[in-house]
Amino acid sequence: MQGKYRNRSYWLDAIGHELIPRPPLQGSIDVDVAILGAGFTGLWTAWYLLERDPSLRVAVVEQAIAGFGASGRNGGATSASFPYSLGRLEKDFGREAARATHFAMKDSLEEILRVADEQGIDAHQHRGGSMRFARAPHQLKAVDSTLETYRTLGLDDHVEALSGDEIRRKVNVSDVIRGYNNPSGAVIQPARLARGLADAVERAGATIYEETRVLDWSPGQHPKLMTTRGDVRARAIVLAGEAYLSQLPKTRRAVAPFHSLMTVTEPLSDAQWAEIGWENRETIGTTQYNVNYHQRTADGRIAFGGLGAPYFFGSNIRDIWNPDHPVFVKLRQLAVEWFPVLRDVTFTHAWGGPFGMPRDRMPSMTFDEANGIAWSRGYTGQGVTTANLAGRVLANLITRTDSDLLNLPPVNHRSPDWEPEPLRWTGIRFIQSGYDEVERRAEETGMPPSGRSIAERIGWR
Ligand SMILES: Cc1cc2nc3c(=O)[nH]c(=O)nc-3n(C[C@H](O)[C@H](O)[C@H](O)COP(=O)(O)OP(=O)(O)OC[C@H]3O[C@@H](n4cnc5c(N)ncnc54)[C@H](O)[C@@H]3O)c2cc1C
Repeated sequence: MQGKYRNRSYWLDAIGHELIPRPPLQGSIDVDVAILGAGFTGLWTAWYLLERDPSLRVAVVEQAIAGFGASGRNGGATSASFPYSLGRLEKDFGREAARATHFAMKDSLEEILRVADEQGIDAHQHRGGSMRFARAPHQLKAVDSTLETYRTLGLDDHVEALSGDEIRRKVNVSDVIRGYNNPSGAVIQPARLARGLADAVERAGATIYEETRVLDWSPGQHPKLMTTRGDVRARAIVLAGEAYLSQLPKTRRAVAPFHSLMTVTEPLSDAQWAEIGWENRETIGTTQYNVNYHQRTADGRIAFGGLGAPYFFGSNIRDIWNPDHPVFVKLRQLAVEWFPVLRDVTFTHAWGGPFGMPRDRMPSMTFDEANGIAWSRGYTGQGVTTANLAGRVLANLITRTDSDLLNLPPVNHRSPDWEPEPLRWTGIRFIQSGYDEVERRAEETGMPPSGRSIAERIGWR
């Protein structure tokens, strides 16, 4: 049905129309801004550039189709949480920077919903809130410290503490102890948002060239993207390839590609939904180390997602996954543990995608006027809302539009490069298996991990 782009995600498969690629680039061209990548970052940047200055010639160059990357495969949790946690922001950049980032993320969330509504994009968007909770005693510390951070920053009214009963009345998850809800959070069908946004960006005047791979770029007074189909010369180049930037010669060590995996059930029956509740479609997850995230889809399924896939040597990226991978097996087990009524349910799809992990875990949104190169990357798996913020920041930097957003911590931040291989693989796998072990021990003892983690000791927090 979806030809060569089948099996990238349930969301792309269920989009409701054929995924016919737009025409590729046909020879070299000159534009004002050339954007590598038609995911949320590239598309939002194009959108806000044209909002600031409709006369700009903007070209988006995509190796596959719009929404092919993480943007068309993710969990759809559209929350105001910035990838570098509020607690860390406060510690490293101060109270005001942490508060400003929180408010900027909240505005980004509103922007996503506003533009989607205004442009008639039906991404199944719904503002149900985003809940995190503990299902085991060792996960309580993370619930409490998040609530404490909100209190310290004077943001108490942005989060609701919930008892186990209050959570179960919303979503009947087994063994829930307590947690919290960010009421502003929303849920989306990500591929519908990415594809709808691509159409909106074209209507605004940009050209999207699909199935055109960028091989390299050159900075300078006349920067350009070199592609399989010709050069795109521009005044500014935007590198919006996120995890995939690790595949290009000049950014091989800028981010390490980690993978997140998802699976989805068949549509559930009314009787099953009566047991589960979840009428408000909150996005949900626990506070355990190996993050998990779940949504009730608009067509009555449950999509379960989680980390746990190992980093691949040489920053290899996997776009198609075997449904028997241990992470899927675990997610299917988890589904039945959380909702025993799913005992005999069929899981119809299993997929995964890469997200960019910077060496210091801090996203960066940067434009160097002297060499014409802009980028935003390193969202650590929390990029749905962050990419909108990135789009506004990069558009402001490129068009020299002054705004408070340009004072935020990720702006013009530079993360150190990852180590060369085999050190990179050894270090990351060491930390990943350390996390698995810490989680396993905490589950056994019921005690939260204490002391400085291995990751902290080697400067990766
Ligand atoms: C399974 C999964 C679940 C997730 N769940 C959530 C969630 O629930 N909430 C949340 O906030 N975040 C989530 N994320 C993270 C979020 O999806 C990403 O951070 C966000 O989509 C990144 O958008 P992007 O545009 O920067 O990158 P991408 O969407 O990856 O887009 C990059 C684009 O660049 C193109 N490209 C790359 N290299 C080249 C090249 N050389 N030439 C041409 N084109 C190129 C790619 O094909 C791709 O389309 C999840 C990620 C995954 C993988």
